[in-house]
Amino acid sequence: MITSPFWTDQFPRPADLPVSTELPSHVDVAIVGSGYTGLCAARVLAKSGASVAVLERETIGWGASSRNGGMATPGLKQGLSKIYKKYGPEKGREFWQASVDAIDLLEDIVREHAIDCDWSRSGHVALAAKESHLSDLESYADWIKSELATNGYTDRTLPRLKPKVIPVGSYIIVTEPLSSELQDELSPKRRMYYDTKRFINYFRLTPDGRMLWGGRNDLSVDLDLEESSAILQAQLTAVFPQLEGVPLTHSWSGRLGVTFDLMPHIGKVDGVWYANGYSGHGLSIATYLGTELGLLISGQKERSPFAEIPHQTILFYRNRPWFLPFASRYYRLLDWIN
Ligand SMILES: Cc1cc2nc3c(=O)[nH]c(=O)nc-3n(C[C@H](O)[C@H](O)[C@H](O)COP(=O)(O)OP(=O)(O)OC[C@H]3O[C@@H](n4cnc5c(N)ncnc54)[C@H](O)[C@@H]3O)c2cc1C
Repeated sequence: MITSPFWTDQFPRPADLPVSTELPSHVDVAIVGSGYTGLCAARVLAKSGASVAVLERETIGWGASSRNGGMATPGLKQGLSKIYKKYGPEKGREFWQASVDAIDLLEDIVREHAIDCDWSRSGHVALAAKESHLSDLESYADWIKSELATNGYTDRTLPRLKPKVIPVGSYIIVTEPLSSELQDELSPKRRMYYDTKRFINYFRLTPDGRMLWGGRNDLSVDLDLEESSAILQAQLTAVFPQLEGVPLTHSWSGRLGVTFDLMPHIGKVDGVWYANGYSGHGLSIATYLGTELGLLISGQKERSPFAEIPHQTILFYRNRPWFLPFASRYYRLLDWIN
């Protein structure tokens, strides 16, 4: 079993990517981090005529952006009804619309740059993990109809930003390619699936017909990859007993940037703009907020709802998220009870 992401193993980065180790003497905008957020902000700024440098500590896209499940779904990590309750219907609609626009934006970028990434609008399915969760999903569906509603690698470079984002681990396993009959049985429409637990599981088939299964049973960022693959495989075979004994080929992890209100944020600290906090739901939203950031910095946009909500932290959290083991136990208990 390989303990690195399936995606970069199957589709290695081209050796001739135009990267530079020399820092330019002057740029209009320097961007720290080359995931979706950083690259999308850079794209917009460069289009507006600014000179831009993207600074990356590892290699391009090294963080969550090359480690995720590849599932672009609407909405934000925080539930929409809670968002409406907290920020009111007007802002609530803006946040929902942004999450839908984010998927169109992602599609536009894939088309404009002819990115060969098996993009498809396959739909997604939210699965009630327990019978008692079903009524919540039903009322959510009714509520959506009635409305017509359409990062975790932050370090101490900005000490005032660190306490606003909690790095949380997310883990994935991938099986060997499955027979086409088994693929049709497990996912006839090749949709993206996630369930309703706090310790969420999500799954999909990869373009070459493997089962990709993700989740966590712990919030730590450094769970051993053999150990995490055993936990994930047990979850997988509990749902799909047909996959008992199917060998795993990959097991990897990445960090999510989770916020205390589960909302993504745009802001400015000590003169530096940031966008983060997708809380595990960032494939399209990070693309969107990175783009928003570029538009705000270059003056092509004056406001963003993601910059207008308070970005909370808690007392005594500065660097080490000491509360995560307690939070893990608490959420496991809630999942067990409810
Ligand atoms: C296992 C996993 C599965 C996921 N699955 C999904 C999914 O299916 N759907 C979905 O919507 N979202 C998913 N996500 C979340 C999604 O991948 C992220 O929200 C998104 O990629 C965040 O993009 P980003 O550009 O903000 O951060 P990242 O892609 O993490 O990029 C941050 C970059 O900053 C660099 N960096 C940090 N500090 C410095 C520094 N001081 N100097 C230079 N460089 C620095 C890091 O090396 C890193 O490359 C998943 C995440 C994980 C980890």
